[in-house]
Amino acid sequence: MPYIVIEEDRCKGCGLCTIACPKKLVSLSETPNALGYTVAVFSSQEHCTGCTLCAEMCPDVAITVFKEEN
Ligand code: SF4
Ligand code: SF4
Repeated sequence: MPYIVIEEDRCKGCGLCTIACPKKLVSLSETPNALGYTVAVFSSQEHCTGCTLCAEMCPDVAITVFKEEN
């Protein structure tokens, strides 16, 4: 099943990935991290298609999409 990994250290909380995901699987955390950013959070592996739209949209290259079976 495809899934994504969000590198929290790179994420600036811009929210573009939350708009990009057609399945609405990415949201912003409600509490800021140590750097003060509300970072992106992947909510459900179950429905991810591996389309890579979230990763392509991220200006900070914080998202990696994995498509291998597991
Ligand atoms: S790869 Fe596609 S379906 Fe999966 S989280 Fe990213 S935008 Fe959503
Ligand atoms: S697009 Fe990238 S930097 Fe912006 S919230 Fe998503 S993961 Fe973070």
